[in-house]
Amino acid sequence: SPRFLSTMPTSAMIHLNGKDVSVPTGLFLDNEWRDAADSSTFEVLNPSNGQPIATVAHAKQADVDAAVVSSRKAFRTTWGTNAAPEERARLLNKLADLMERDVQFLAELESLNGGKGVRIARDMDLADSIACLRYYAGWAGKVAGETIETSSTKLAYTLLEPIGVCGQIIPWNYPIMMWAWKVAPALAAGCTIVMKPSELTPLTALALCNLIVEAGYPAGVVNVVPGLGTTAGAAIASHPRIDKVAFTGSVATGRRIMEAAAKSNLKKVTLELGGKSPSLVFPSADLEEAANWSALGIFYNSGQDCTAGSRVFVHEDVHDAFVEKFAEKARACAIGNPLDESTSFGPLISAPQRDKVLGYISAGIEQGAELVTGGKKWQEENGGFYIEPTILTGCKPGMKVVEEEIFGPVCSIIKFSSEEEAIEMANDSIYGLAAGCFTSDAKQAMRVSKALSAGTVWVNNYGLLSNAVPFGGMRQSGIGRELGRQGIYEYCSSKSVLHNIGEELSWPL
Ligand code: NAD
Repeated sequence: SPRFLSTMPTSAMIHLNGKDVSVPTGLFLDNEWRDAADSSTFEVLNPSNGQPIATVAHAKQADVDAAVVSSRKAFRTTWGTNAAPEERARLLNKLADLMERDVQFLAELESLNGGKGVRIARDMDLADSIACLRYYAGWAGKVAGETIETSSTKLAYTLLEPIGVCGQIIPWNYPIMMWAWKVAPALAAGCTIVMKPSELTPLTALALCNLIVEAGYPAGVVNVVPGLGTTAGAAIASHPRIDKVAFTGSVATGRRIMEAAAKSNLKKVTLELGGKSPSLVFPSADLEEAANWSALGIFYNSGQDCTAGSRVFVHEDVHDAFVEKFAEKARACAIGNPLDESTSFGPLISAPQRDKVLGYISAGIEQGAELVTGGKKWQEENGGFYIEPTILTGCKPGMKVVEEEIFGPVCSIIKFSSEEEAIEMANDSIYGLAAGCFTSDAKQAMRVSKALSAGTVWVNNYGLLSNAVPFGGMRQSGIGRELGRQGIYEYCSSKSVLHNIGEELSWPL
């Protein structure tokens, strides 16, 4: 069983914007910090310079087992249907208040560990995450079943009950936002959580545990087991005492998680996976706006976004004019040190990720694409994992840069001559996460948004999200939905109760 530590080797002193601060680096079990059962650790790097930030406890099967025991106990005793909806709402709002209080520290830590600009981390990721907690606090007392009249002598109703212990496995591209999208609906519904942050970006998920204690959550409601996918992640997916697993990450991992869930206890699985999202620029579009939103679509978070608008289909009549404007936007990206307020474009998360993206750029050029801008590492001498914002034109269906998710700041432009052709090419993908459409023709906007096969369609914008609007994918982009009303229903089980209010059974039948 895990070793309890009286001292705290489970924290690290890190240097953050001129100050030394202590951040937790242990496993978070039963509202306490612990070392891993086998005392193993893994190292976390700063992607803007490649230097180590901290070593973090590496949870494995025994630690996940302990977390599940703790979460099951909390579900049975202090949480689940024992915590009144008002209490679940109060605690979520309290947690949101504490995040707001600590927003600058959390944004700096997110920026240091994940590489995104601190301003973006604070004003976008954290602002949205705090709002997500408040949004689901509002849902806590509003999830209700239905009454169903079956006959004058019978009455039936459904109860929507929390599913139970939920494993939540999240990626590195939006560490706090993916944490919020998972934690908020689960806690509002009354579930307990065994959370595994990405091994590349565990620091903010761990720092948030201190706020979970401060908010007053009972022990075991949220347990956090940092570790690798093959250890902590696999232990969650295959655990026979976990009732649901919610995952965001790659298709390959999503498939493994589903297999493990099927082989263990057929736990419910929701998956938010990858994308190769198309966006269509028609001749009537406001090209300046289309270029701005397309730049946001592919260069936001340095392209490390599941909805990245990585295939932009442009009508031949406006192709050259659009490409010129789009390239200006790419060159204007504010690349720099993530901890500078002015930076909006940071490094990729790791050296392997950077090299994979560079490999795609080379493959695109080899297969006939033309490099308009970018294509290289940026300031290699500082040791960071940066790649310049990159645009390729002359791309055609069948090319690797058109078919495969790159997960970096690389946009493939494809020319089209008719709406039908553009829609056919746009929908020709194993993915179906998101799509965009730029046009000033209202009928075309309606027609095209109906025809595009994706979980989210953006018309005359790209990438806008709202906590109130469901998000998720078609085809291999995922199963289930997050956010909105559907997001909390994914954490509920429906129980049907049938009452006899006057029917007598004469036996034998
Ligand atoms: P990944 O699949 O490698 O890892 C995601 C998480 O899964 C990490 O915590 C990792 O440790 C864990 N994991 C890895 N192997 C596992 C296993 N065998 N069992 C259980 N857990 C395991 O993905 P990533 O590289 O961290 O993230 C990038 C991917 O995530 C991209 O493909 C992107 O499109 C996708 N993504 C999707 C969404 C969405 O909402 N649809 C959002 C963000 C990212």
